[in-house]
Amino acid sequence: MILRLNCNEKQNEEIHLIDANQKFEEFLKSKELKYTSERKLILKAIFSFHKHFDVEELFEKLREQGNHISRATIYRTIPLLLQSGLIIEALHCQDKTSYENIFNKKHHDHLVCINCGKIIEFYNEKIEKLQEEVCEQHNFVPTEHRLGIKGYCEDCYKKIKKEGE
Ligand SMILES: [Zn+2]
Ligand SMILES: [Zn+2]
Repeated sequence: MILRLNCNEKQNEEIHLIDANQKFEEFLKSKELKYTSERKLILKAIFSFHKHFDVEELFEKLREQGNHISRATIYRTIPLLLQSGLIIEALHCQDKTSYENIFNKKHHDHLVCINCGKIIEFYNEKIEKLQEEVCEQHNFVPTEHRLGIKGYCEDCYKKIKKEGE
């Protein structure tokens, strides 16, 4: 553990990938599925994204890394990664679903620009607390939540405002 704290980000990423690999392998085993080399490469590519990604971006990333894996294989692997809890569907905006790797990552919510697609992550203690309170009021036991606010980022809003003048 102490070793991990002293690691730089790159090394941390590698350690996380080893742990995530193990988690994914165990999950697949429990479903009596094989951990194929294609599945391994997809997970590795996912870990090279520091932020959100969609299927197309993942396809391109794999190609950049010299791995030609079909979109169909990626589409079949995504639900397994979701079920294993390694990634989540972060947002859905304009027919595009973005995923993100949540392995060893702190919970956060998102602001998404409907003009340029920029995603801003945030964490707000007050909002988190309020949600807990709402659940309590309804005797509801939360297991997860995803808050996404759609709108215009600062740059896009400036541009749009200018055009309207
Ligand atoms: Zn924007
Ligand atoms: Zn995020």
